[in-house]
Amino acid sequence: MSKHQQKQQTQISDLFIIGGGINGCGIARDASGRGLSVMLVEMDDLASATSSSSTKLFHGGLRYLEYLEIRLVREALKEREVLLRNMPHISWPMRFVLPYHKDMRYEGDSPVSRLLSIFMPWAKGQRPAWLIRLGLFFYDNLGSSSKNGGGRKILPGTSSVNLETNPAGSPINNRFKKAYEYSDCWIDDARLVVLNARDAQKRGANILTRHKAISAKRIDGLWEIETQNQITGEKQQFRAKMLVNAGGPWVKDVIENTTQIENSDNIRLVRGSHIVTKKLFEHDKSYIFQGEDGRIMFAIPYENDFTLIGTTDIDHEDADSKPKCSKEETEYICNFASKYFKKPITIDQVVWSYSGVRPLYNDGSIDAKNSATAATRDYLLKVDQGTGEEEAPLLNIFGGKITTYRRLAESALEKITPFFKETGKPWTADASLPGGNFPVEGVKKLIEKLIEEYPFLTQEWAKRLIKSYGTEAQKILEDSSSEKDLGINFGGTLTESEVEWLIENEFAQSTEDIVWRRSKLGLHMSVEEVVMLDDWLRNRE
Ligand code: FAD
Repeated sequence: MSKHQQKQQTQISDLFIIGGGINGCGIARDASGRGLSVMLVEMDDLASATSSSSTKLFHGGLRYLEYLEIRLVREALKEREVLLRNMPHISWPMRFVLPYHKDMRYEGDSPVSRLLSIFMPWAKGQRPAWLIRLGLFFYDNLGSSSKNGGGRKILPGTSSVNLETNPAGSPINNRFKKAYEYSDCWIDDARLVVLNARDAQKRGANILTRHKAISAKRIDGLWEIETQNQITGEKQQFRAKMLVNAGGPWVKDVIENTTQIENSDNIRLVRGSHIVTKKLFEHDKSYIFQGEDGRIMFAIPYENDFTLIGTTDIDHEDADSKPKCSKEETEYICNFASKYFKKPITIDQVVWSYSGVRPLYNDGSIDAKNSATAATRDYLLKVDQGTGEEEAPLLNIFGGKITTYRRLAESALEKITPFFKETGKPWTADASLPGGNFPVEGVKKLIEKLIEEYPFLTQEWAKRLIKSYGTEAQKILEDSSSEKDLGINFGGTLTESEVEWLIENEFAQSTEDIVWRRSKLGLHMSVEEVVMLDDWLRNRE
């Protein structure tokens, strides 16, 4: 078929979205729910880039208060509970313990630390207890005064902790006697992306993974996009009324190389790495540690048997160079955490690490000498309409956190809808993601019910299924009455039925998609078990 014939056959979609990270999938879901026809392409797997490499928190960002990012913090704080309610299977409340010692000193280049050193020069290099309490007071209350709902209703507020008597003090160096405790939420970032894509697809969106957008041109008031299948090399043409660039770290590359439009916007690529060790403490609270360099570090209970520690902030050269946690970063994280834990963390305790690149908008006010930590975490949406015959709108997404993805999608739709006649109203604030249609406190009940229906499941197995699939867990187990009915057990409670579900319903194609993104079973499976899964996938028809 000639290119011309192919073009005539190609349906014109309203939106063509480049990028299957949280922002692309969030916009695809919102837009298809409002009646727009959507095509989304992702050059690798969904969430294969930044959106599976985060610290996995729905958080306001306590640290950003020091940088006076009030708009972002307020929006994120309001959003935590909206999101939690819509996905109580993959998100849950978490308490964060912040150990405090009056002798702690910091290098600070934040607006608050600069103000402090002007008005209270004797407090230079300190975060006094009153300042931390003030920050936490804002954190508790900033998102609460909302006209249209939102705010903190489920999450408990800040409290003081005596580390000498509280179990949270037991793994912590005796030097620390006191701490503050506040709330945020955990989120399984990679599953969040996939569930948004799944919901978008249910509402009519087309989602194509392993397809790279290699060119996009404005022709006769439409976008003509060429994609290339990253496995077969096959090229395909698409047409759309509007193009959305949600390329994350590649946002600039998409503008300059895919659409070949002149661009003056800049992003700063900042790498952040995490390490995973065997469980360092028994309780279910997380820690937030303050470093002498002014940075912070989280230590979070992870996947039952592990502790997740991170992150770093390092300028990253190029989106195409795959981010990796370097030896220096591993040492930095170990040394940072060792200042707080009784037992020092050593490199040989690290069982896994991962790294991602933050695509931060750089408005030029930040010069290269400013620390990567200081670069804004807020997002910016920009429409380029084109001119004359070249008119066809392009929406570029710069920045954007996991926590603000739903609000970012709503703001994107505010920019998109004026180009279309009939579109629905905002709807995602009260709509649960697939499997999330149950109350926030309902996880325990769901686990019990699942074990009642499928008595061969262990407690851990049932818990994993509910915390991954929520009310959809039964769809994987169907009418099975024993483990055997679920086919091969690949290890770590991963069965053939679950793998089939992931392939059929969650866009999974490779072993990595399954054991490192749809799940983190890679941490629980042996090398031989992963190889068995790999062989099975290769031989599957
Ligand atoms: P991505 O997830 O990178 O998605 C962009 C996608 O576009 C990629 O998958 C890429 O393959 C695809 N793409 C690019 N070009 C093309 C093309 N030509 N054709 C097809 N596909 C293309 N946020 C929080 O709220 N909470 C946290 O705890 C948190 N912690 C973080 C910790 C770290 C270390 C980092 C790095 C970030 C953290 N963030 C956090 C921020 C958050 O992870 C990111 O802002 C968010 O994931 C960005 O999503 P995205 O969709 O813009 O980008």
